Amino acid sequence: MKFNNTYIKLAPIFYQHVLPTPVAKPKLLLWNDSLAKQLLIPSTLTQDSALLAQYFSGNQLPPGAESIALTYSGHQFGHFNPQLGDGRAHLIGEISDENAQQRDIQLKGSGPTPFSRQGDGRCAIGPAVREYIMSEAMFALGVPTSRCLAVVASGEPVYRGDAKPGAIVTRVAASHIRVGTFQYFASQGNLEALDELTQYAIARHYPTIKSSGAERVIAFLEQVIAKQITLITAWLRVGFIHGVMNTDNTAISGETIDFGPCAMMGVYHPGTVFSSIDRKGRYAFANQAPIAQWNMARLAEALLPLIDSDQDAAVAKVEPLIIAMSAQFQQAFNTMMAAKLGFEHTSDEVDALSTELLDLMQTHQLDYTLTFYHLGLIINSQATVALVAPLNDWVAKWQSALANASISASNAYELMQQNNPVVIPRNHHVEAVLAQYEQGAQSDIERFLSVLAHPYQHTQHTELYQDPAADGDQHYRTFC
Ligand code: AMP
Ligand code: MG
Ligand code: MG
Repeated sequence: MKFNNTYIKLAPIFYQHVLPTPVAKPKLLLWNDSLAKQLLIPSTLTQDSALLAQYFSGNQLPPGAESIALTYSGHQFGHFNPQLGDGRAHLIGEISDENAQQRDIQLKGSGPTPFSRQGDGRCAIGPAVREYIMSEAMFALGVPTSRCLAVVASGEPVYRGDAKPGAIVTRVAASHIRVGTFQYFASQGNLEALDELTQYAIARHYPTIKSSGAERVIAFLEQVIAKQITLITAWLRVGFIHGVMNTDNTAISGETIDFGPCAMMGVYHPGTVFSSIDRKGRYAFANQAPIAQWNMARLAEALLPLIDSDQDAAVAKVEPLIIAMSAQFQQAFNTMMAAKLGFEHTSDEVDALSTELLDLMQTHQLDYTLTFYHLGLIINSQATVALVAPLNDWVAKWQSALANASISASNAYELMQQNNPVVIPRNHHVEAVLAQYEQGAQSDIERFLSVLAHPYQHTQHTELYQDPAADGDQHYRTFC
């Protein structure tokens, strides 16, 4: 593994040096071969599962790795927490991948750090495997995301109510810089560090920005906002509910990070929430866009001192960007919904059609993924409208709108196929696999992952995973 560690070259306040805590009996459970190839990890290492277990449990650092825990703050459910930081994660280094993209290699569940507070620094096997499944599914769905390289069983119990087998998950991300990282330095009034972080983030993620001074910081904010809009639109397209969109879980790169309480929406309802701690539905499905805007407002606030020493003048420069985000998101959302219905462009007619469809889906408690999949079958003459009986009248309107726009059924179908997954990681199927891991039983994960790797296609076992939850996920709850 060829490490090229850059974060560790930043000022000492950006992180704490801390080694992972060794575990009793590391055993490699999951290894992501295709990601390993992208990271140019030599096949001799990939074949040595005993050594991989040592490296990706944290028992032994690979040559060139340097272990640190990152400093950050964050708004959790709207409340500012000045001291968060990696409480159970170790950034062991960075690798330049096959496309010369810098990627962080982070262990999670690898032991306590100076940021652990009351936490044990550990991770149970369920959440570790869950992060692996969900991030791989999101990657295949075309959603910007961190990925998982490995899951290693620790051979030690962790206590989450009762004893569960422990695991370490290795996360690969464009970086782990988050809105909360900016908030940390801003809240400390450390403008030097704030500027250092901004310049580093621009160089790493937004190298096309060439301006200087305040212009440069504003351009950065603009681009982070654009990435958030793309990200949230992609989440809404596939029915993903992140579950804990705190500012410390909002990556500056625009990737999905932190898969703790995430879930997929089955039955369509804009207010869908599964996270056990999200009692007021702050992070409900349809709240994700306004919350992203709120999070960007927090980033803008943190950047103010770099924009103008006069706070009012700085606010006047960033406020329009935050306000404009609503209309930009609406435009992106409309375009996305249009594509799900086979239209390359939005129009008032198409927007009205998609709004009406969502209302009907909510009223009739239709499954989000299956409805769009079935509409595809109808347009492709593989099924009759009886398949979506409550949408009978709507389908007629939709088909005449396509005809009016001179869009052929085959063109509409092609666009729909690219935007409407055949299969998603449904909660009950994910949980079934996690239960197998918790019980140390033989698991179906390879079959499940092979299906999720091709979410827009039928593969050998796709049908096994298309079914909605028997109870419509009514009692489904997720935990951080
Ligand atoms: P999250 O909401 O998952 O992003 O976590 C919020 C904060 O809690 C982060 O600083 C985590 O590092 C920390 N944390 C979560 N679980 C643990 C744990 N088991 N031990 C120590 N710190 C933890
Ligand atoms: Mg987090
Ligand atoms: Mg978490």
